[in-house]
Amino acid sequence: MQGTILIIDGVATNRIMLKVQLSAAYYQVVQADGIDGLLSVARRCRPDLVLTAMSLPDGQAADVRAELARDETLAGVPVIAICGQNDGAGRLGALAAGIDDVLLQPLDDVILQARIRSLIRTRSSNEELQHEASQVFSMPLADSLSQAQIDGSKVALVTHDMATAMRWRERLKTHVPYELCAHQIGNIQPLMSAPVADIFVVELNEAAPGPALRLVADLRARAATRQSVVIAIPNPAEPLAAAEALDRGAHDVMQSGFDVEELTLRLATQLQNKLRSDQLRSNVRNGLRAAVEDPMTGLYNRRYAQPFLERVARHAEDCGETFAVMLADLDHFKRINDRFGHPAGDAVLIETAKRLLGQLRPVDLLARVGGEEFMIVMPGVGKTEAGRVAARLCAQINATPFSVPGIGEPIHVTTSIGAVIGGSAQAPVDALIQEADRALYRAKDRGRNQVTLCPEAA
Ligand code: GH3
Ligand code: MG
Ligand code: MG
Repeated sequence: MQGTILIIDGVATNRIMLKVQLSAAYYQVVQADGIDGLLSVARRCRPDLVLTAMSLPDGQAADVRAELARDETLAGVPVIAICGQNDGAGRLGALAAGIDDVLLQPLDDVILQARIRSLIRTRSSNEELQHEASQVFSMPLADSLSQAQIDGSKVALVTHDMATAMRWRERLKTHVPYELCAHQIGNIQPLMSAPVADIFVVELNEAAPGPALRLVADLRARAATRQSVVIAIPNPAEPLAAAEALDRGAHDVMQSGFDVEELTLRLATQLQNKLRSDQLRSNVRNGLRAAVEDPMTGLYNRRYAQPFLERVARHAEDCGETFAVMLADLDHFKRINDRFGHPAGDAVLIETAKRLLGQLRPVDLLARVGGEEFMIVMPGVGKTEAGRVAARLCAQINATPFSVPGIGEPIHVTTSIGAVIGGSAQAPVDALIQEADRALYRAKDRGRNQVTLCPEAA
């Protein structure tokens, strides 16, 4: 089954004709005859898309949108309105009310099917993103988009000749606050250089739609532009080009050709959706980062360190290299807490992180793996170099006492370090960590404030 489509029309024969058409394309079809009772039907059948007549016995297409918005699980369902010919005002009104598209009677089956596929595709990728976000966050995020964010968007107008793009820009300029740039179809390179446009408006010229259709597919496929919206403007005399553009990945098409008011509305709707998805994606990214980060020091935590170490170990084995693993534990840290208070202890930990990090290379890892315990992983490093770095780390902590705001006297801090070299014996990562831990305890046993390197020199 392709998905469920809810048809709303007061005229039974219209519903039946649509049902036949959609069932033939393997959609499951559910019917309703108006606004009344719509919400309970929709809650039961969970439509992937709603197809409504522009006028209903008890309302308009815009009321369908408003009715669905009352249930947040249905608010994102795409809605297509079907309207009689030449109802320009009704069409603009519906788009302004958040209807995703308005198709004209008589319905062209190819266009209808392409439009449905495209809207369902966009919806399901949005839902996937929502799902991902809900995996990362227990609470839904209610960030709202600021007007400045929306106004600062970038729209690229890409046409067959530069004159058309310039003309479109002139006409749009007074209607929208966005940054508008004009391009000619041909070289994709300038379209991909940052900052990439939020929306590409692509002209499909009837004489040679090939390059424009390829551009649509290209924009949707490339990493740089994959998250941008594509609105295609086909020649109205060539209706099938619209279907083709949708199937190549365009999010929206303007079947009646370039129209300033209609494009303004479509840009606004598409930008809202796009910026909201961007926000969700960046929240997911930040959330994933937060899961592997220690908020106090900003260092990675154990959850990150373990797989990092495994990667380093695998790489070392492949390349016949060695690497160093160290565990550093502050000495008598409990005493610092006891004497100066927990907040002072926190300040010492933050300063420790900073001092240790200052001694390491960008390719090294410093992670906070316990209360006052840090792990250091140094790829490509042998015993001599590891011993030298470990001694330097030790000195970074003990050489200069820590000055903590609010504490009158400098705090003298020392650290013990256990270090091991991996790579040659191909020991499992867990065994290496245990070995480093044993080395650390030997350093503690021998009086703290020192390094034990394993295996020890004879
Ligand atoms: P040793 O030299 O044997 O390592 O002695 P120690 O006192 O450092 O070790 P112990 O394990 O006895 O105590 C560690 C202390 O670290 C106990 C705990 O309260 C403190 N600690 C753990 N996490 C934090 C933290 O985030 N902030 C502060 N201020 N203290 C912490
Ligand atoms: Mg300690
Ligand atoms: Mg400890």
